[in-house]
Amino acid sequence: MKKMALGVLLFIGVVFMGFLMILGGGLSEKKVADVGSIGNVNLPEEVLRWKDKVTTECQKNEIPDAVPYILALIMVESGGNAEKTPDIMQCSESKGWPPNTIQDPNESIEIGVAYFASGLKSGENVDPLNVIQGYNYGYGYLSFCDDVYSFENAIAFSKQQSGGQRVTYINVISTSLGYSWRYNYGNMFYAQMVKQYLGTENNQGGSGEYGFILPVQNPIVSSGFGPRVNPVTGAYSNHNGLDFAQPAGDKIYAVADGEVVIAQADGVPVSGYGNCVIIKHDDELYTLYAHQSSMAVRVGDKVKQGQVIGYVGSTGQSTGPHLHFEVRLSLYGNFVDPATVLPMP
Ligand SMILES: [Zn+2]
Repeated sequence: MKKMALGVLLFIGVVFMGFLMILGGGLSEKKVADVGSIGNVNLPEEVLRWKDKVTTECQKNEIPDAVPYILALIMVESGGNAEKTPDIMQCSESKGWPPNTIQDPNESIEIGVAYFASGLKSGENVDPLNVIQGYNYGYGYLSFCDDVYSFENAIAFSKQQSGGQRVTYINVISTSLGYSWRYNYGNMFYAQMVKQYLGTENNQGGSGEYGFILPVQNPIVSSGFGPRVNPVTGAYSNHNGLDFAQPAGDKIYAVADGEVVIAQADGVPVSGYGNCVIIKHDDELYTLYAHQSSMAVRVGDKVKQGQVIGYVGSTGQSTGPHLHFEVRLSLYGNFVDPATVLPMP
């Protein structure tokens, strides 16, 4: 119910916002950005039912990786409700037609995806989030914004186009970003609204005994659980976790919902672990994330599965950037081999 309420809220927001389409002139076809392994989160069945059609159209337009962006966009534009809004990508205006001229959701996807592709192909490595924002502002935005999407850029464009005129604007996204207004041109929150339905493939729901997801993307296991010669001390000891040799700065994800009970620099009770976070999932299940370059959570934070809790580093007893990950059945022990409970590829 919560998801649906949110969807309805966003839908109302977007409908009132209208849909500005200004085709950017002189856009040449260049290399398309690698949009990587982004997936969707929190999409209802009403939207997911269009996935096959969206996939077909994205392939036709040679933007196969853009599927999650299109589905998230459909969610924001229409909530996927094709009965109420047959033009589910709200792209009638991109054809110069009055709003909601399109009466067939399939046609809306065909036209909408082609329009999205024209934005994504308008330069080299165009950030899909900039195209998303441009889907609302018009692609004139693509020659205004920086290479990488930023909310500040989106605000600046709306401010410029509106001449600084503000209007009251309150929804869950504006509120969460600390705003109760927007500039009176397009919707400066648009990409943020779409973004809430995007996540890494990691966030697709867990599996295994505890329903865990992987704590990193594209895991590179460098050391397994069990007895080994400690690479730092040289002593023979038990390795209580799994090491992922990810590049420094890679995101670390909470493997399940829980509460942060430890988030600290090296020291007792987790000496040698560097910047270390422990999440309590229940009284008999904890996960630990060690050697972080920086942490994104504090003690007491409630975290959701897939939430970024920190970044890979090499703090504490470590010979190079990696995530040392542990599963514990009590706060200070009862170690479980993570490989047996993680959805290892
Ligand atoms: Zn380790």
